[in-house]
Amino acid sequence: MYDFLKRLGIEEVNSGVFSDRWLEGKGGEVTSYNPANGEAIAKVRLADRDEYEQVVAVAERSFAAWRTKPAPLRGQVVREMGEVLRAHKDDLGRLVTLEMGKIYQEGLGEIQEIVDIIDYAVGLSRQLYGFTMHSERPGHRMYDQYHPMGVVGVITAFNFPAAVWGWNAMIAAVCGDSVIWKPSLKTPLVAVAMQNIFAPVLEKHGVPGLFSLATGHDDVVGETLVNDHRVPLISATGSVRMGKIVGAKVAARLGRSILELGGNNAIILTPEANLELAIPAIVFGAVGTAGQRCTTTRRLIVHESLVDAVTERLVKAYGQVRIGDPLDENTLMGPLIDEDAVQQMTKALEQVKSEGGEVLCGGERVDRAGFYVTPAIAKAKNSFDIVQNETFAPILYVIPYSDFDEAIGYQNGVPQGLSSAVFTSNLLEAEKFLGHQGSDCGIANVNIGTSGAEIGGAFGGEKETGGGRESGSDSWKAYMRRQTNTINYSKELPLAQGIKFDL
Ligand code: NAD
Repeated sequence: MYDFLKRLGIEEVNSGVFSDRWLEGKGGEVTSYNPANGEAIAKVRLADRDEYEQVVAVAERSFAAWRTKPAPLRGQVVREMGEVLRAHKDDLGRLVTLEMGKIYQEGLGEIQEIVDIIDYAVGLSRQLYGFTMHSERPGHRMYDQYHPMGVVGVITAFNFPAAVWGWNAMIAAVCGDSVIWKPSLKTPLVAVAMQNIFAPVLEKHGVPGLFSLATGHDDVVGETLVNDHRVPLISATGSVRMGKIVGAKVAARLGRSILELGGNNAIILTPEANLELAIPAIVFGAVGTAGQRCTTTRRLIVHESLVDAVTERLVKAYGQVRIGDPLDENTLMGPLIDEDAVQQMTKALEQVKSEGGEVLCGGERVDRAGFYVTPAIAKAKNSFDIVQNETFAPILYVIPYSDFDEAIGYQNGVPQGLSSAVFTSNLLEAEKFLGHQGSDCGIANVNIGTSGAEIGGAFGGEKETGGGRESGSDSWKAYMRRQTNTINYSKELPLAQGIKFDL
C-alpha cells in the first residue's frame, strides 16, 4: 500500500458508505484496479438498501439544519473545505491517476478544478441573486427569491472521479442543500478519499451528514436513489445510455434532473486557420486523457484543400505521443480504464473500415501490462454509424468538407451536442459558427479546442448530451427552488388584471 493512500485514509478494505459516519457496507464489495498494470489497489464495501435508507434519512436531517444557516456562513464552511483540499491536492491528484489512469498533471488539474469551484462557490454564497420587478398594482412590491431545495443525488462517471462531484457538491452546499454521492464502481477509492478529507470539516460545523456517500450497484443504490421522491434533484453524469434511463425515471416522478451525458465533439478547420494553434489543440483534444473526456475531440471536419497536409502532420505528431505509466511525468497518454474499453476501441476501428473508412494510424494494443493502446486517426464520413456514436477512446475521425455551411451541417449532424470549435482567422466564419445558424452545442469555441472548460462558464450540452448545465454562470439556480413574492403595503386589495370582485 502506497504511503499517500494511507494519508488519504485508504486501507486494503474500505467502507464506501457514509451517512454521518462510516457504515459497514453490507451490499457486497468491489475491487478497484490500477489501469496502468491491471493490479488490484484496494477493496470497497457497498451499500445495501437498509444502509441507503440510513444515508437518505441523515441527508434529510442535515438539509433541515443546514438550510437555516445564512448562505455567506455556508460559504465559510465551503471555504474551509478548500483549505483541506489544497493541503491534500498532490495526494488526491495521485490517487485520481492511480485509479483512473489519466496522467498526473491531469489528475492534479482535476483536483484544482474543485479548488477553483470552491472559490467560485464562496463568492456565490454572498450573491444567489433574485430579481425585483414592478407590480402593476399600487402599493405592492414584487420580487423573486431562491430557497434551498433539499437532498441532491449526484451520480458520477469514472473519467472525472473527483471533479464532477466537486462541481455539484460545492455549489449545492452554498445553495443550502445536502448531497448524496453515488460514484462509479470503476473509481470508488477517490470517493472514499474525498469523503475522508471533508468529513472532519463538516463534523466541526455540526453537519457531519451534509455530504454522504452511497457506493453501490446500479440496481440496488443507483435506481433507488433515482426513484426516491425525497431527493428532488438528481445530477447524473455519464453515458447517453445511462441518461435515457435515469432521465426517464426522474421525470416519471416529476423530479428534476441535471443530465451531463456523452459528447461527439468536432473541430472545424478552415483554409484560414492558424495551423500552429490548431494542430496542438487537435492533438491535445483527441489524445489527452486517452480520449476519455466527454469533451474529447472525436471529429475533425477539415477543408478538402488541407486534408492531406493536416493528416500528415497529425500522423507525425501522434507518433511522438509518449504512452506509458501515467505517474511518470514524461508520459502524455496513459492507459484506457479497462479491458472492455480496449475492446470497444478495436471494434470501432473494425467498424469504420467495414463502413468504407481508412485507418491512417494507431489502434494497436501496446505490449505491456495494463490497458494501453496507440491513439488512432481514421478517414471517415460523418454519416457512418460508428461516427454518429461516442466511442470512449482516442479515435479521431477526419471528415473532409468543401463549403463552410456543409462543415456546420456535419458539426451539427450527430445526436450529441456537447462541445465544438472552429479554427479560423476569418471573422465571418467565426461569427457564423457562433450565430443562431451555427454550432448547436452547449459549448462553442473559436481558435481553442473542444476539450476541457473553465469552471466560470456554464458547462453542459444539448440534444442527447442531456441539456444540463453545471459549474459557473447561473447554473446554481438548478440547485435551488424559486419563489415569486408579492407584498401589499397599501390599505386596498386591488386584484390583478383589473378584475373587480365586489362583495
Ligand atoms: P456510465 O453511464 O457507464 O456510468 C455513469 C454513472 O452512472 C456511474 O456511476 C454508473 O454506476 C451510473 N449508472 C449507470 N446506470 C445507472 C442506472 N440505471 N441508475 C443509476 N445510476 C446508473 O458512464 P461511464 O463509463 O462511467 O463514463 C463515461 C461516459 O460519461 C461518457 O459517455 C462520457 O462522455 C460521459 N461524461 C459526460 C460528462 C459531461 O459532463 N457531459 C462528463 C464526464 C463523462
